[in-house]
Amino acid sequence: MVNKIVVVTAHPGDFIWSSGGTLYKYSQSGCEIHVIALTDGLRCESPIMITDDCSLEGKRRQIESASSLLNITSVTFLGYDDMPLEIDNSGIIKIASIMNEMNPDIILTHAYCRDNTNPDHEAAAEIVNKAAEIASSNHKIFKNTMRSRPIPIFGFEPDNPENSRWIPGTFIDITPCMDMKMEAITRLPGFADRSARTYEQAVNRAIYCSGRGGVNGCKYAEAFSGSTPICDHGYFVW
Ligand SMILES: [Zn+2]
Repeated sequence: MVNKIVVVTAHPGDFIWSSGGTLYKYSQSGCEIHVIALTDGLRCESPIMITDDCSLEGKRRQIESASSLLNITSVTFLGYDDMPLEIDNSGIIKIASIMNEMNPDIILTHAYCRDNTNPDHEAAAEIVNKAAEIASSNHKIFKNTMRSRPIPIFGFEPDNPENSRWIPGTFIDITPCMDMKMEAITRLPGFADRSARTYEQAVNRAIYCSGRGGVNGCKYAEAFSGSTPICDHGYFVW
């Protein structure tokens, strides 16, 4: 049972195009969704995201508008610089501390792979994996050792998966949630050019999800990769 998901993104808008359908689906079953944006995306996203309201506050309002549509429980802006995204060890400990306190069942973030089109995404994956490992198991830093095993981490499908040599491992059927995801994208006027691509990607992933995956009736899907082993008391996960 997944009761709490923490999503860590390089830029504030990343969670919407990458996993908005999955997050909305989980929220519908009562799961808490907490988003942590490492940066405000001022260099990466602002030229396209800030349109009518050319201010940081305006951009955050756009994100919060989309978040409320997807039933996101909270959004935290950490305010690091982007392009390039660099966070030192004290920053990683700070992120680990937040994770430790939130104690999620799952973490979603950028895939642990090369991302030639957006190095911040690649950097974020490394930072999040380090922080999660510290949050999960380093009882020398955190007195409340919260877990007996590391937090499972799943990676978003990158912008250009083929160029990133990325291979999907988990498909989520988002058919009932697709309308809400597309509506959330419209709350960010600068993401207008992303709508068609996001739609087509969901259709393509549904082909595998419904075909080899056997998920009958799946028309739209999101894909993820795992960066930690999945262990179960029972049988193969299927
Ligand atoms: Zn991004």
